[in-house]
Amino acid sequence: MDTKGNSNCRISELQDESKIGTKVSLSGWVRTRRDSKEVSFLVVNDGSDVQGLQVVIDSDIEGFAEASSHCKNGAAVCITGTLVESPGKGQKVELQAESFELVGGCIAEDYPLQKKRHTNEFLRTIPHLRPRTNTFGAAFRIRSEASFAIHSFFNQEGFSYIHTPIITTSDCEGAGKMFQVTTLNQDNIPKLDSKKVDYSKDFFGQEAHLTVSGQLEAEMFACSLKKAYTFGPVFRAENSNTPRHLAEFWMVEPEMAFCDLAGNMEVAERFIKFTIGHVLEKCQSDMAFFNQWVEKGIVDSLESVVTADFARITYDEAIKVLEKSKQKFEFPVAWGNDLQTEHERYLTEEHIKGPVFVTNYPTEIKAFYMYLDEGEKTVSAMDLLVPRLGEIIGGSMREHREDILLKQLDKFNVPREHIEWYLDLRKYGTNPHSGFGLGFERLVMYLTGLKNIRDVIPCPRTPGNASI
Ligand code: ATP
Ligand code: MN
Repeated sequence: MDTKGNSNCRISELQDESKIGTKVSLSGWVRTRRDSKEVSFLVVNDGSDVQGLQVVIDSDIEGFAEASSHCKNGAAVCITGTLVESPGKGQKVELQAESFELVGGCIAEDYPLQKKRHTNEFLRTIPHLRPRTNTFGAAFRIRSEASFAIHSFFNQEGFSYIHTPIITTSDCEGAGKMFQVTTLNQDNIPKLDSKKVDYSKDFFGQEAHLTVSGQLEAEMFACSLKKAYTFGPVFRAENSNTPRHLAEFWMVEPEMAFCDLAGNMEVAERFIKFTIGHVLEKCQSDMAFFNQWVEKGIVDSLESVVTADFARITYDEAIKVLEKSKQKFEFPVAWGNDLQTEHERYLTEEHIKGPVFVTNYPTEIKAFYMYLDEGEKTVSAMDLLVPRLGEIIGGSMREHREDILLKQLDKFNVPREHIEWYLDLRKYGTNPHSGFGLGFERLVMYLTGLKNIRDVIPCPRTPGNASI
């Protein structure tokens, strides 16, 4: 709707010769303005597409002359007119304006988004305005479609979407430092005789944190609804200022009951193909933009993942391949070491030349809840590695045998008290089950080719930064 209540068009639906002659009304923000003697040319972007629409405004149109000085880059406008064939280069159609309304003026001089190309670093300083640029508009449309695809996939595969808690008292993942949640007065913290904090006086009567993963709670629902997934924010107070880590990010975590490692990999393979395929289909012009300006060849590379048969090799085999390779690696290759990104990329890019699951990792480098293989040297874990990135998914069969889980808790120094309920799931009607996790921002980076994780989340939280 424009401000007069007329129905509104989306520019993404107008870039097509078949629409010539139709009367449309649109609203959006002026990207650029160019004036000649009798007419002004505005490029208006309405957020529906990376492309804006050129609007031709004769200077005698009602309201334009008075508003003209405030109708500069950044201004919000509503325009009604007729779509005509564009005589200019670069666009098939343009809008010949018949009525014009300046909704929110913008004096261009101090508008931070000038016509030149800004760096992503600069744009990070204006998170409230950066979605108006091509790069960020495209990235957030893709983020939205990918998120929709994820929900569609699980919905059509019969999963229930579970809203696992954000505040938790089970600090057992060991997956990074947690943020504490407390209402204790920080200037006067109640203490026990032992000088330790008296958490019985805190809001929850015990120490509480923001969750680092919804997996354990998703398992509750896998062990009842059979197929469950969670897709929500998680928090890690890791003081690592890297282009791949945020303090607040989103995680996708499906869990399936009566499912072994092979079944887990089958779901993960279908999931990745579906999600990427959906984005390629729905975000063609945004993907073409990233293909041209951010990562040449990204569309082909993603298409090759959608059509590939994913390979499967064990960690044992992977180590042998890496040992035999002529490649110089920065990090040493040895059985028992975790695979680093350089190793992962060699395996998927050079050795397999496509996506590959690596399975059965050494017990010591994985988590306490993973299913212990025969011989106890390895666990039934799997990582999915893809070209250009390395690991995109990590998952495992979960340890469902109570006696073994108890031993693993001790081995990994996980206190039992906090997860009695997790043990109960093994006590009452236990069943083999499996699941995996995908860092959603890592997926969006992979889909767009953007190299800094701060550029694929609306308001990045990193050490020292949570201002907007
Ligand atoms: P990394 O080695 O990259 O720090 P991790 O081994 O700590 O990852 P997991 O605990 O397995 O990661 O978390 C599951 C997924 O969440 C990872 O594969 C990754 O995609 C994503 N992830 C982990 N930490 C972060 C973070 N700080 N910011 C954004 N995504 C993250
Ligand atoms: Mn980490």
